[in-house]
Amino acid sequence: MLIDAVREAAAKSDAQRRLFVVPNTHVTRLQTINNSVVAIEADVNGVFRSLPVGSRCAVILAAGTTESTRLALRSFPTSPGNPANELMGRNLIGHIRTNIFARVLRSALDPGGTLPNLLQTGALLVRRSTPQGKFHVQVTASADVGGNSDA
Ligand SMILES: Cc1cc2nc3c(=O)[nH]c(=O)nc-3n(C[C@H](O)[C@H](O)[C@H](O)COP(=O)(O)OP(=O)(O)OC[C@H]3O[C@@H](n4cnc5c(N)ncnc54)[C@H](O)[C@@H]3O)c2cc1C
Repeated sequence: MLIDAVREAAAKSDAQRRLFVVPNTHVTRLQTINNSVVAIEADVNGVFRSLPVGSRCAVILAAGTTESTRLALRSFPTSPGNPANELMGRNLIGHIRTNIFARVLRSALDPGGTLPNLLQTGALLVRRSTPQGKFHVQVTASADVGGNSDA
């Protein structure tokens, strides 16, 4: 999806483009002044680079949960005093998943053979919570010969 979007954006001039992908670049720190990001520090193919950020730009941390937290802790002012009192990263939780597979014969769902024969897929997500925590039930269905609906 990203590659498609970048190809579409590339048709425009750089000034008009709204999407760029910067490969082989590891963001190491965000420079801040008065709690606003003014530059992005990055390692580009092993070379340090600092990219200025205009005051009208928004910086979105989307580097995955752990890395975004690490960047935030490294870049923004942390709670003074005891590190145990730091709030950033304190709500990280584990995600445990259990898979249950079931196979249903197509003929059981469609005894009259009226459904199209082309591959059909479906997905359902139910979010719930208990006092102990949150969970979701994720159901995927597809006509996969190997019985792996994720595939
Ligand atoms: C094994 C597995 C199975 C999963 N299955 C499901 C599922 O069935 N259904 C579901 O809904 N979710 C599933 N998830 C969760 C889902 O993949 C994530 O929630 C989702 O991908 C998070 O998207 P994101 O864009 O926040 O982060 P990511 O997809 O992790 O993207 C972060 C990007 O940031 C880049 N990056 C990291 N650090 C830096 C840095 N310092 N500088 C520059 N770039 C950096 C990374 O290379 C990566 O490309 C699964 C996750 C795993 C690991």
